[in-house]
Amino acid sequence: MNNLQKKIYDRFVKYVKVNTTSCGTSETVPTTATQLEFGKMLAEEMKEIGFANVEIDKNGFVFGEIAGNAAGATVGLLAHMDTVEDFSGENISPVLHADYQGGNIVINEGKGMFLTPEMAPALLKCLGHDIITADGNTLLGGDDKIGIAIIMTLGEYLLAHPEVKHGPVKVSFTIDEETGTGIGHFDLSRFQADFAYTVDGAELGKIDYGNFNADRFVITIEGNNCHPGTAKGIMANPVRIASDIVSTWPEDKLPETTEKEEGFILFMNMQGQLDKATLKGIVRHHDLAQFEQFKKDLEQIVEEKRAKYPNAKIHLEIMKQYRNMKDVLQEKPQAMDVLVKALKEEGVDYELIQARGGTDGSQLSLRGLPTPNIFAGYENPHGPYEWVSIQWSETVFNVLLRILQGSLK
Ligand SMILES: [Zn+2]
Repeated sequence: MNNLQKKIYDRFVKYVKVNTTSCGTSETVPTTATQLEFGKMLAEEMKEIGFANVEIDKNGFVFGEIAGNAAGATVGLLAHMDTVEDFSGENISPVLHADYQGGNIVINEGKGMFLTPEMAPALLKCLGHDIITADGNTLLGGDDKIGIAIIMTLGEYLLAHPEVKHGPVKVSFTIDEETGTGIGHFDLSRFQADFAYTVDGAELGKIDYGNFNADRFVITIEGNNCHPGTAKGIMANPVRIASDIVSTWPEDKLPETTEKEEGFILFMNMQGQLDKATLKGIVRHHDLAQFEQFKKDLEQIVEEKRAKYPNAKIHLEIMKQYRNMKDVLQEKPQAMDVLVKALKEEGVDYELIQARGGTDGSQLSLRGLPTPNIFAGYENPHGPYEWVSIQWSETVFNVLLRILQGSLK
């Protein structure tokens, strides 16, 4: 490892040892107090390095900035502090596999866990790299602590090298990305950047310039219950009506039958008995017109069932979640222009894609701050086979540095 890689590595190893699992059912902000503890640790480090105006706000977001030493756009850099609750993030023991030469990486011999190029083809692009994994008992937390380690190291580098010219840089380490509940509390008026990047994508070169439009819905069915022996022409059974609605939705518009920029409806929860049933789900599509059409189609199905089951009361409620940032990024193109230029200069083989999900940046973009999502250099997140390449993280560092230079006036 060279000096820069070692710095990113040391920080990363230190950060992942702090448990910051977020919690989707918690009602506090942030959802777990451990994120506040981690935020304090990061704020201290930022102060030591020399970031200005370092502060943790009431919701747990960590802010800091580096004044520009040349005229340029104000660039924001964001990474999230929490890890997903799907898999343990406690007592993470990172393992360094130096100078990877191909073949299987032992995650945990006793448990028979190996990371193979078959399950992670991107490994073959990492020959000679220093790979970090967890030990089979936890996730790694590369998502997104490698992003934090890169941004922190970049800040340190800029402050130690005044000869490197850049405009103002705003940094924030954010809460509760994995639960989707954090970024709504982000104080944009405090951040004041011209554009920003979430450093939170997987495989090197993947850039999210768009994402799903997203709504959720609840269908409530009130039945008409009576003795089954004398039910003819009277009973309306919510259990059967709910399953009728589910099976009427077209099979080629489901998560398991779609990919890339195809949308879907996911029916994700069904509870019911003879007096009442509820059916919950989500609607997703990159294209806004088709997204609206999906919701009309669902309404149409509900309308048909009302006619088919006149003794039942069927109610559909649709609630807004988030929207595609693509249009915003096209209207305010500087963030993507500067990024694409930086990727070309750095020689990164890149791919612009629309995420099949949401990103924190999509919500910020819709609120006025254009924020595409850049790769951070982790792979297989949210489970025990997560891994990070330190050489990739150096490439991310270099791309960010080029972005700052490309933003000079
Ligand atoms: Zn993430």
